[in-house]
Amino acid sequence: MPFPSDLTPGPKDFWFLPLGGTGEIGMNMNLYGHNGQWLMVDCGVMFDKTRLQPDGSNSVVSADPHFISLRRQRLVGLVVTHAHEDHVGAIPYLWKELQCPVYTTAFTAEILRRKLVEAGLEEHVPIIEVDTGDLLKIGHFEIEWLSITHSLPEPHALLIRAGGSTVFHTADWKIDFDPVLGHQFQPQVFKQLASRKIKAMICDSTNAVVPGHSISEGDCFSGLLQLTRQAEGRVIVACFGSNVARLITLSRIAEQTGRYMALYGRSLRNMVGAAKKTGHWPDNAKVADGRHLGYLPRHEVLGVATGSQGEAAAALRKMALGTFRDLELEAGDTVIFSSKVIPGNEAAVGSLVSMLRQKDIQVIESADTESPIHASGHPCQEELTQLYDWVKPKISIPVHGTPEHINANAAIAREVGITTQLCGENGDLYRLAPTVGMKRKAVKTGRLFHDRQ
Ligand SMILES: [Zn+2]
Ligand SMILES: [Zn+2]
Repeated sequence: MPFPSDLTPGPKDFWFLPLGGTGEIGMNMNLYGHNGQWLMVDCGVMFDKTRLQPDGSNSVVSADPHFISLRRQRLVGLVVTHAHEDHVGAIPYLWKELQCPVYTTAFTAEILRRKLVEAGLEEHVPIIEVDTGDLLKIGHFEIEWLSITHSLPEPHALLIRAGGSTVFHTADWKIDFDPVLGHQFQPQVFKQLASRKIKAMICDSTNAVVPGHSISEGDCFSGLLQLTRQAEGRVIVACFGSNVARLITLSRIAEQTGRYMALYGRSLRNMVGAAKKTGHWPDNAKVADGRHLGYLPRHEVLGVATGSQGEAAAALRKMALGTFRDLELEAGDTVIFSSKVIPGNEAAVGSLVSMLRQKDIQVIESADTESPIHASGHPCQEELTQLYDWVKPKISIPVHGTPEHINANAAIAREVGITTQLCGENGDLYRLAPTVGMKRKAVKTGRLFHDRQ
């Protein structure tokens, strides 16, 4: 069955069209099409290592929304699943091309609002806040928000219903029974999907090549506590700014080890500010003023710093260079990387680590310890098997991964007994109803580079 030449979905059609994030990791941009309308799910960026800004930080890149900006009057809304940059970060840059209502939950809305204020767009973008469990009609689409676990506050999966078929869009997820913050993973929510005859499961492939089960966020506590206890001088922990649960863990560790925790880096303070505003930060989790920690005895300092990927403009590199204003590191201090190196950043992290070691600062990375000090937010093979087995979709559509990750995810689905897997990349048009199929390279895709605001 051919697709219509103008690529406008008819009343019986239900299509999926990724413009970004499928065939790669980062800059997600997904479209669903039905009955003359399109719905966008997520609109993110990734960092471009080849282009540096004047301050040494990376430029950002997003998917090119050209296809949908040509059909803007058919775009009924943008749903944002969670507040990671690869899902929300492009909205300020691409707003002019989209200009549709944005639907998301409170924490993600708060993060988005802060970005819009910086871009001078806060008056222009209509944000509609939804709650977990809400069922909303957006144009001809019905959307249901399901709470799932990941590595920041308020991650959501979506049920999207159109033309009598239901799609389960997992977004980023893992199975975590001790996420430290927010709801724990609730199997019954996903087990009951089997009775709802899910047509397709559009699924995170980030860790589909990793055997076993992801580490629980709660399991990072004892490893980090032990390392902090052993340290004699200052302790600096580098972690991803958005992992609010990890920051809560570190505040507990500071309390138990007689240290004061402070945050170094704007993105960390921004995330904690948003977490406080939306009720995700416990009142008794104390954060000290970073400017004061330099005056304290070294064994009372626990700093959390941005720059776990070796970023040139981030706090940790400045500390390594001795150019950080608020805190100076000395021989005998400890830097803990509570993070993983994102592929492509090995050289930047390597040079940062050697700079620190040259100053006789002890550096501890995830691979150096037996107890976990970092937990990924994405599902490993056992979790993928489990979720496919619960949901039992007719079709598996792996996304959020390179072709290698996508194929690995599809192989797992096949093993579980999901008979149809559709593996493609950005620009491929997936037909979910009335018949199943796909058209490769149906839409021209591309990248847009943006100067960071
Ligand atoms: Zn994410
Ligand atoms: Zn993601």
